[in-house]
Amino acid sequence: MSIEDVRKIIDFHHRSALPIISLLGGEPTLHPEFSRIIDMCIDAGLSIRLFTGGIVPTKAKEKLQSLSPKQLSIITNISAPEHCRSEQEYDASVQSLKDLAAYTVVGYTLFDMDTDPEFLQELVLSTGCHRSIRLGLTMPGPNDSTCLLPPVRYRDAASWILRLARSCDKHDISLGFDCGFTMCMFTPDELGELAYLGCMTRFLCCPIIDVGPDLSVWSCFATSTLDRTHLDEHKKRQDLVDFFTQRQRAYRTFGVYDHCHTCKHKRRGLCAGGCLAHVIRSFSGRNAVMSTEKQKHSAEMNRTGKTNTPEQKRS
Ligand code: SF4
Ligand code: SF4
Repeated sequence: MSIEDVRKIIDFHHRSALPIISLLGGEPTLHPEFSRIIDMCIDAGLSIRLFTGGIVPTKAKEKLQSLSPKQLSIITNISAPEHCRSEQEYDASVQSLKDLAAYTVVGYTLFDMDTDPEFLQELVLSTGCHRSIRLGLTMPGPNDSTCLLPPVRYRDAASWILRLARSCDKHDISLGFDCGFTMCMFTPDELGELAYLGCMTRFLCCPIIDVGPDLSVWSCFATSTLDRTHLDEHKKRQDLVDFFTQRQRAYRTFGVYDHCHTCKHKRRGLCAGGCLAHVIRSFSGRNAVMSTEKQKHSAEMNRTGKTNTPEQKRS
C-alpha cells in the first residue's frame, strides 16, 4: 500500500470518528515503510491495533517498543509448534511474544483438535504477555472451496474449546471468541460451564470492513473474493457497514446448518448462524449462486422484511 493511500485511510478514520486503526493482512511489519506508517497513525492521534503472525523484523520491533501500551495493542496469531514450518519459526514467534509482551494478546485459530490446548496457556505464562487468549475457528479462505474446519466438526471443536477454557480458568487467563462461532456447537450445560469459567462467548458474524492495498474494501477476509467495493465510493465506515449489510441480507436468512432458518436462537438474535462465508459457499460452491428454491425463499423474506420462516410465522 502506498503512503498516499495510507493517508486516505487515516482521513477515512477521522471522517468516521474511529479512534483505533487496525493494521493487518499478510505480515504488516514487513511493509518497507512500516515505521513511517506507524508515525503517521500516531501523529494523526490514532491508537494502533496490529495483527501479526509473530515473525517481526528487529527494526519493526524496535519501532513498536517505542510506543506506549495506550498507543499500541497487538494480537499475535500463533501456530502450534507442530504446525510451524520449522522449530525456528515457532521460536521466533515466541521471542516476539516476549519482546512485545506489554502490548500483546495471543490469538489462535483452531482447526486441528489433536493439538494439545495446554500449549496456549503455557505460552501466555512463559512469555509474560497479557493473560488473555483470542480464539478463532478456521473459516474458508477467500479462494478455498473447502475448509479445514467445516461446521460438521464443530461438536469436536467444542470439546477442545472446553478443555482450553478449563485450563485458562486454572491460570486466570481470559478466553474470548472471535466471529463465526455457533451457539449449538455447545450443549446448554457446556454453555453454562463456559459462562461459569468467564469465557467471553459470542456467536456473531457481521461486516468487519477490511481495506486492501489498492483501496478495495471487503466485508471480511473470508468473503473478500465474493464481494467488494472501493473506499473512494464511501464516506464513512458506517456507510460501508450499511452497504455490505444490505448486500448480504438475502444470505442472512440462512446459516451454516439447514435448520438455522428455523432456529429460535437465530430468531432471537443470539446466534448469527455461523460464518457467512460458509453459508454463501453452501449455495453453489464459491460462485455463490443461490438455488432457485432458496432464491425464492430469500426474496420473500426480503420482500416482507422478515427473517423467520413460514413455520415460525405459524407458531
Ligand atoms: S463471514 Fe462472518 S464469521 Fe466468517 S470470517 Fe467473515 S465476519 Fe467472520
Ligand atoms: S442459528 Fe444455526 S448455528 Fe446458530 S444455534 Fe441456531 S442452528 Fe445453530
